[in-house]
Amino acid sequence: MEASSAQRAPEEAVAAVNGAGREGDVEFSLELSQDQRDIRDWVHGFAEGVVRPAAHEWDEREETPWPVIQEAAKIGLYGFEGIAQFWMDPSGLTMPIVNEELFWGDAGIGMSIMGTTLAVAAIYSAGTPDQLAEWVPQCFGTPEEPAVAAFCSSEPDAGSDVSAIRTTARFDEASDEWVLNGQKAWATNGGIAKVHVVIASVDRDLGSRGHAAFVVPPGTQGLEQGAKVKKHGLRASHTADVHLDDCRVPGACLLGGKERLDERLARAREGESSRGQAAMKTFEVSRPTVGAQAVGIARAAYEFALDYARERVQFGRPIVENQAIAFALADMRMEIDAARLLVWRAAWMGRTGKDFEAAEGSMSKLKAGEVAVWATERAIQILGGNGYTREYPVERMHRDAKIYTIFEGTSEIQRLVISRAISGARIQ
Ligand SMILES: Cc1cc2nc3c(=O)[nH]c(=O)nc-3n(C[C@H](O)[C@H](O)[C@H](O)COP(=O)(O)OP(=O)(O)OC[C@H]3O[C@@H](n4cnc5c(N)ncnc54)[C@H](O)[C@@H]3O)c2cc1C
Repeated sequence: MEASSAQRAPEEAVAAVNGAGREGDVEFSLELSQDQRDIRDWVHGFAEGVVRPAAHEWDEREETPWPVIQEAAKIGLYGFEGIAQFWMDPSGLTMPIVNEELFWGDAGIGMSIMGTTLAVAAIYSAGTPDQLAEWVPQCFGTPEEPAVAAFCSSEPDAGSDVSAIRTTARFDEASDEWVLNGQKAWATNGGIAKVHVVIASVDRDLGSRGHAAFVVPPGTQGLEQGAKVKKHGLRASHTADVHLDDCRVPGACLLGGKERLDERLARAREGESSRGQAAMKTFEVSRPTVGAQAVGIARAAYEFALDYARERVQFGRPIVENQAIAFALADMRMEIDAARLLVWRAAWMGRTGKDFEAAEGSMSKLKAGEVAVWATERAIQILGGNGYTREYPVERMHRDAKIYTIFEGTSEIQRLVISRAISGARIQ
């Protein structure tokens, strides 16, 4: 039925105000591009067909799933060209989209595939173009022989408090080498990586402003894997201590180069504030991506619980027909969508160079991590006894989700960063 002119007029007025119909003139859109949709569907296919079927086995084995990494490398999902393509999206959304889909498949395997990007982000944020060209491809290896990389910042006594790092880097002028000594803790891919990026102190008196990032090339003497950590979740991802014992790396392995470091140290000694702290910069770049991983886990648990609630019959009706269950699912969906929107906003801000005035990157990771823990716990509840068993995947998802309130800055540290950003006060 055709609308009368009386009905049409207000619609046209609204359309004119909104600028609707003027194609190319609408600046805000949440519509994904064809490229983004294609990449999302491609990663989803891999997550569904290859990652999910392998998830339970590698969680139980607590080993790096090399065959799955190799499959990802063969199709171009794992490799520097693929990662560069995801990063290059000018909207910033492709990287979170890829991570959400992959971690929807499984978080332990997802981290085995994406853990390398933490080291890559450090090289990218602190390295020169030559260093990027030399080291980033080596982080991934080749499709025939894939490799992984590790980012080593945390230490037994320096977790949230990055300024407490004790690993030292001393420059040996005679040989033009840096000598690294110390112990790193909880390094994803630590010891099994080809390339390690190590944060070390070149001047302890300067705290985190005296830190620098170093590449430790494959096979360097003096770098040894310490104890492998047995974990609550993310068990397909290798986590271990790394020992550095008179580990000598060429002068060129200092990311950013000596001249830039000397200038930065001089500024710090004169008391100028520095925004270039190596480890913090890396975390800033990677937080929305980490948030997207948590969104993927939460969505997987939500979808599983929704399907289960439609099928499971108690008291003669599917349990989804109880408000207690249906409302929980409604809240899960709403919180997951809210978390994703924060992730997308922060990723877009990072890619387009906006200032994070309210620590929006930290907000996205905080929200997504807490939603993932909460939503996976709700999923277990919806599955009842089955949810608590290893026959069903939601207990694994819950174990995997918990790390997202801990690594890349705990929830408390994110709140500290956000509250300082919005208040300007020295919140302790
Ligand atoms: C599976 C896994 C993988 C990891 N991968 C890596 C990696 O690849 N590279 C790497 O460098 N590190 C990695 N980490 C280390 C991780 O980043 C740290 O565990 C994390 O930063 C927290 O440090 P912490 O464990 O020493 O906790 P702590 O800093 O000791 O914190 C303990 C508790 O105190 C709280 N707290 C501390 N300070 C404050 C404060 N000022 N205000 C309020 N509360 C506070 C914390 O929020 C937390 O609840 C990994 C850890 C795990 C478990």
